Order: sequence, then structure tokens, then C-alpha cells
Amino acid sequence: MRVELDLAINDGSVIDTEKRRRRPLNVGIRGDKIVAVTAQKLKAKRVIDACGLIVSPGFIDVHAHLDGDAYGGELAACQGITTSIGGNCGLSPIEMEDFFQAQERDGYPIHQAEYVGHSFSLRREAGLKNPYVPASPEQIARMECLAQKALEEGACGISFGLDYSPGASLEEIRALAALCAAKDRVMPVHTRLFTRYDLDSLTEILSIARDTGVRLLFSHFVYQYGEGDLDSALEIVDKARDAGLDIHIDSGMYTDWATYIHTATYDLQTIHDNGMHFHDMMVATGPYIGQRLDFELYAKIRNEYPDESIIYCNHLKDEAHRTLRCPYAMPSTDMGAYSPGEGHPQIAGTFPKFIKDMVRIRGELSLEEALSKATLLPARLFAIPGKGKIEEGFDADLTVFDFDRLSDLAVYPDQGRPDAKPVGIEYVMVAGNLVVDQGIYQNSQRPGRVIRYMR
Ligand SMILES: [Zn+2]
Ligand SMILES: [Zn+2]
Repeated sequence: MRVELDLAINDGSVIDTEKRRRRPLNVGIRGDKIVAVTAQKLKAKRVIDACGLIVSPGFIDVHAHLDGDAYGGELAACQGITTSIGGNCGLSPIEMEDFFQAQERDGYPIHQAEYVGHSFSLRREAGLKNPYVPASPEQIARMECLAQKALEEGACGISFGLDYSPGASLEEIRALAALCAAKDRVMPVHTRLFTRYDLDSLTEILSIARDTGVRLLFSHFVYQYGEGDLDSALEIVDKARDAGLDIHIDSGMYTDWATYIHTATYDLQTIHDNGMHFHDMMVATGPYIGQRLDFELYAKIRNEYPDESIIYCNHLKDEAHRTLRCPYAMPSTDMGAYSPGEGHPQIAGTFPKFIKDMVRIRGELSLEEALSKATLLPARLFAIPGKGKIEEGFDADLTVFDFDRLSDLAVYPDQGRPDAKPVGIEYVMVAGNLVVDQGIYQNSQRPGRVIRYMR
């Protein structure tokens, strides 16, 4: 006797991310796996009628800062994200096994992989307090030891946020890159820009990839190179790829970036050197949310509320679109942990906006191309088995959405709610469990797993 299916998604347009086509098919799920993809209508304990809906593999967010944050996990799931890669920009847990065990014990709505981070976390642990100072040989050895342990405990790579440790030496970066390369893990780099138009920040990392063979992922590319030098930056990456380096890039759908006011990025010297203006800085969190800075408010928040986030408004337009059209570019949120009502619209809007703007409104990518970039390309880059495709035997991580209705509603905090959930994401399934059901987030569901890298 055939064992009954737990769930069937009938009559949807099922995306084939490999062949980049869509077909009217029915998807059957048992436990945490896809067990049938067929033209034959399926019976199951629960049947979802997906007529008129797109059935995609769940989205993989290659650049996030969720790191187990509960509300962030909810906002990610509501965007259709089923796997999030955290610990980016050099900020992460150090004790990876403890982090993984805590996630497994408490449960989480979506799957998580995690980097160990250099620029805040490993440096702090090695006793480096000043971001403008390079690590000593002893401190490098200490970071190597901690990073090696984290990689052995399953971290997916070592992340860098070099704007946050402008003093980091090439020796220090190279030593950690070599560890990543030896384990064939990905190295994401938020590059170090001394001025706004600094392309040396790219070439210094390329030289490290050449020396070590490490696989690179340039983080939130448009936040680094959006301002007038995007084409030159992309050309440099293109040439390096042609020369055989393994490089990908990620980008969100916004050009205005956000970070903590206490970081080196918002040091007065940095502001001065980069010709940044206080009136382009918008408070994203805390008591002054939505306000633009002047020097007085800047000084007050930096002294009294150093952990608040500030959005830097660039007044750019098409840069994110240009970046994400590259065949080796993937969409990412850069989303972090915020309280309800606070933050940057990337935390709730990125993936729906990516599909709505680039496919439906502007026709810059086909739907199949866009969904491949959000699923199969990251699954391959990160060598995550069982993800990125809808095939028998693959993980039951699925996002079912209404292409015509799909819309992001998140806005900058001076306009309304940056955490407004999108419309049109109807069902999100993680390991066979619906964390979004008929467009409603299911608070009780915590099916997400940790992805440990044990090779
Ligand atoms: Zn960053
Ligand atoms: Zn980041």
C-alpha cells in the first residue's frame, strides 16, 4: 500500500531552476522531502490549490545578519526566504557549536548557515580594540586558531567587514583566507573603502584570492560601489573571473545602506574623507527614528545610543538593477535584528521587490532567471545539498506566490513601516512545514535547521 502524502501542491506553475522553464505540475511532499513532481493530480492529508500561483524552490538569502533573531526570522520567512546565511560583515558568534545547539534547542522558522566573522568578532576576541590598528603576529595566530575551530564546528566560511576594521593588514586577511580556501568554504567580503570611489578596495581582495585560491563573494556590492564607479567595479570583477578566479557578488534592491552609528563607517574622519552629509543620514532605530541628522543629533546619538542604526541616503536609482542583472550576482537582504516598526526596508521587502521590479515591471530578467538567482545559484555556490530545485528527493523548501499581486510594502522609516510585510507570498514551506500559510505567518512553526559544514 502506498503511504499517503503529507501535503500536495496541485495545479501550480512549477519552476525548473535548472532548465529555466515553468510547467503546470503537481508537487507531493512526505516528511521533509519532495517525493513527487508529476502531471498527475495528487491526493494528500492537506492539498493546496496553487492554481494561478508560481511554485518556486524557497529563496536562499546569501547575506544576512539574523543570527537567530526571532523577529528577523519571521520577516525573512514572510519574504519567501527558507535559508539564511548569517554572520556576515565580520560580525558573528565565535563559539559556533554553541550557536548551532542553541538554534536547535530553541527552534527557528527557517534554515540557517553561519559564517565566523573577522572584523568585529575574531578581532575583538584576539584583543584588538582599535579598528585602525593591524593585528600583531600573535593576534593573527589567535584569530586563525579560533576561526579554524569555528570552521571545524561547521561555519560556512569566514566573513569580513573591512570598513569596520580599516586597519586590518593584508597578512591578517590572507591568513584567514587561506583557512577558508583549505576547507573550500566561501569568503564574503564587505570591502574597505577609504574614499567613495576606491577601487583599490576590490583589487586588494582579488590579490588575496590569487594568492590563496579562496572563493570570493563580494557583499552588498551596490552599497560599496553604487556611487558612480559601479561599471568600473563590475569590469574589474569580470576580468578577474575571466582570469579564472571564483567570484560571485550579492546585492539588495536598495542603494541606501544602514549600519550602527558606533562603527568606523560613521567616524567623523570617515564622514569627512568621503564627503558624506549629515542631512543624508536617517535614523533607522530608537527614539529618533525617521529623523535626519545634523551635527548635534549625530553627536548625541553616537554618544548616548551607539547601537542605533543609521541609513545613509545616496540618491541613486538604477544601480541595484544593473548589479543584479550580472549572471553571477545574487539577491540578498543584509537584514539584521530590529524591533518591530524599526529598521531598513530591506528587512521585509527585498525578495518581493526583486521579482516585482526586475521581472514584472521592468522585464530585466525572466521570472525563471530571477528565481534561479535566488535559489539554485546560491545552493550551488554554498554547496547546500538538496536545495535550489524542485525535484523528487530534494528538500521540501518551497515558496508559492502570486506573481501578479506580489508587492513589497516596506518603506524607509520617515515614510512608514520598514518592516511592513509584502503581499502575494501565499505559502512558504520549510522542511515540509508551512511557516506561511495562506499569506499568514505561523508563529508556532520552528522547522528550520542549522546547516553545518563538516567536509
Ligand atoms: Zn556589510
Ligand atoms: Zn551585512
